[in-house]
Amino acid sequence: MPTVVTRLLSVLVLCAVAMPYSPAGAAESWTWPLDGTSVGRPFERPATVYGPGHRGVDLPGSVGGTVRSVAPGRVAFVGSVAGVPVVTIDHGQERSTYQPVRALVRRGDAVGRGQPIGRLLARHSHCVHACLHLGRVRADEYLDPLDVLEVRARFRLVDPNGPLPTPPGGSIGTLLGGSLVRPVPGPVTSAFGMRVHPITGVRKLHDGTDLGAPCGTPVKAAAPGVVTRVETVGGYGRWIVLDHEHGVETRYAHLSAQQVGVGARVRAAQTIGLVGQTGYATGCHLHFMVVRHGTPVDPLG
Ligand SMILES: [Zn+2]
Ligand SMILES: [Zn+2]
Repeated sequence: MPTVVTRLLSVLVLCAVAMPYSPAGAAESWTWPLDGTSVGRPFERPATVYGPGHRGVDLPGSVGGTVRSVAPGRVAFVGSVAGVPVVTIDHGQERSTYQPVRALVRRGDAVGRGQPIGRLLARHSHCVHACLHLGRVRADEYLDPLDVLEVRARFRLVDPNGPLPTPPGGSIGTLLGGSLVRPVPGPVTSAFGMRVHPITGVRKLHDGTDLGAPCGTPVKAAAPGVVTRVETVGGYGRWIVLDHEHGVETRYAHLSAQQVGVGARVRAAQTIGLVGQTGYATGCHLHFMVVRHGTPVDPLG
């Protein structure tokens, strides 16, 4: 039986990839609300109305990133639900919900497909780092947003129980014309991928690689680039973001200090800051991220 199911699924997947389509039953497909198209935690249908489950999908993003309406509609709700800022858009038959989001729209506003409706906030109870919880509701039933989100080449679902997908486009090091410099000499204490977070106990995508090193250890740039952000951001604490070529960014989180400013051009292996434990961190370590076109990829790849 499993093989039949597997084959059926692969046929379905192939169909889905082959057709630029609007899924059966949906008036039209949804556009992705963030720049990236990866899914940190998929939808888990609750067995009962109030039962456990995950009533939406978590899409990894950056704090302050633009959140867009998935389809044309009217803003039905802007406010707080259980302390979390939420925006809800009515599309007729269905509603889309977005959280945690600082709204740029007001109740009653008409919005177009892809129109910015807010900015992503740092904390969502499901996410250690920033992510958007996107919900899809018809009447009072929660449905899987992935059934209607448009299929794009870059779409990938991170299966919480399966092996990690390899990032598209070959190795990031090759893309940047060499290999990445290891930013600190320490060991990998937590790899990129699904894990149960040591502080929150929540299972989700760990969007970088943790390198253990004493506080104060110099952090080196993984490749030549330009400093685009030096700031303190939610769970990441103090971080530095470097912009490289080909839509690649590297990010260095939980720092105790920075040694470069925004706009600085840095060489590979140049010291940019010091290891710390700012943000959500159980000890001194570097949370090192490689992000391609807004989507975190495995730095070890
Ligand atoms: Zn969620
Ligand atoms: Zn980490």
